[in-house]
Amino acid sequence: MAERDAVGVGGPEAEGDSDAPDSDSDSENGRASGESEMDFLRHLLSRTLGLGSEKPEKVLDELTLAGVSHFMQSEKCKNVVCMVGAGISTSAGIPDFRSPGTGLYANLQSYNLPYPEAIFEINYFKQHPEPFFALARELYPGQFKPTVCHYFLRLLKEKGLLLRCYTQNIDTLERVAGLEQEDLVEAHGTFFTSHCLSSSCRKQYTLDWMKERIFSSLTPKCDKCQSLVKPDIVFFGESLPARFFTLMQSDFQKVDLLIILGTSLQVQPFASLVSRVPTNTPRLLINKEKTGQSDPFMSMMGLGSGMDFDSEKAYRDVAWLGDCDEGCTALAELLGWKNELEDLVKKEHAAIDAKSGQASEARTSPSPPLSRATASPSPAPKKPGTSPEKESDMGSKAE
Ligand SMILES: [Zn+2]
Repeated sequence: MAERDAVGVGGPEAEGDSDAPDSDSDSENGRASGESEMDFLRHLLSRTLGLGSEKPEKVLDELTLAGVSHFMQSEKCKNVVCMVGAGISTSAGIPDFRSPGTGLYANLQSYNLPYPEAIFEINYFKQHPEPFFALARELYPGQFKPTVCHYFLRLLKEKGLLLRCYTQNIDTLERVAGLEQEDLVEAHGTFFTSHCLSSSCRKQYTLDWMKERIFSSLTPKCDKCQSLVKPDIVFFGESLPARFFTLMQSDFQKVDLLIILGTSLQVQPFASLVSRVPTNTPRLLINKEKTGQSDPFMSMMGLGSGMDFDSEKAYRDVAWLGDCDEGCTALAELLGWKNELEDLVKKEHAAIDAKSGQASEARTSPSPPLSRATASPSPAPKKPGTSPEKESDMGSKAE
């Protein structure tokens, strides 16, 4: 288990490479990977600086939601990639507890942490897992009910348009809404599965198994080897899942439309994905505020990248500001999918209600579904780090 503080700015590229240089790796391999690295840089530069023969082509007939919907209905739009953050889960009652005002860190005193962030650090967790699990118990969602926005993602899948959904969320709501493993890159991991931390064992456990341990106040130990078992969320000090780095390479070469939902693009390397799309690929942001205009990594290199919604040169970026559910509904309406979306939400929510009705008869829940205002029915720890640059995705700054 590599414990390097992997994912800084250079993360994505550093990753594939830094594992490589074993003394026995032959020079041919070295050269090959060096060349593809160069290709990558060349493409990046030409994209960013507008070098080369490519002139940005204006693909959207207008830089509005309607323009995006026209494009989506055309033959040209086959592969949609979505990038989603905490803002798509807030209406499910899952606040982003990194955002100021949720008071999470203020409530951590009782755990005797050396400093608040320790609760999400892998090395601290291995020594002292109790605070994390106590917090998980406190924040465990009363119900996993995906939002309109989650079901919009599901519709994209059903229409054959969804190439991939990259999520920063660990609440598993994309899966609950019907996206499958294959459709997802859970960049910051997920609560959906857990693993034994012993590198020789690595036995996998389910969400139900973990939930039972969390609520019985037992520190989850492996059935097989008695080592500690950890949910597969990415802690500080851990690398992002390999799947993130592999799929990013291929997905972002063939994406026809990027839709960014409910994230302020503050966490690296996730945020830098927006700069990986081809020059002509339109990018739609649905979020409470504009974001992504300058990519910190790019501006550090002196390259102006990032999204451009408003300048005279703007040619492909569209911002729809507001609530993610409303934004998705508006887009669905333009696409002629509104009824379908509403029916899907109704049907799926009814099924979840029916199920949880049965479940709550069977067990006594310590925390009945509270109103959102009480700030307590929250997520399974949402925060988990990525060794991110900055960790405040405020996509969901609660109102
Ligand atoms: Zn084990």
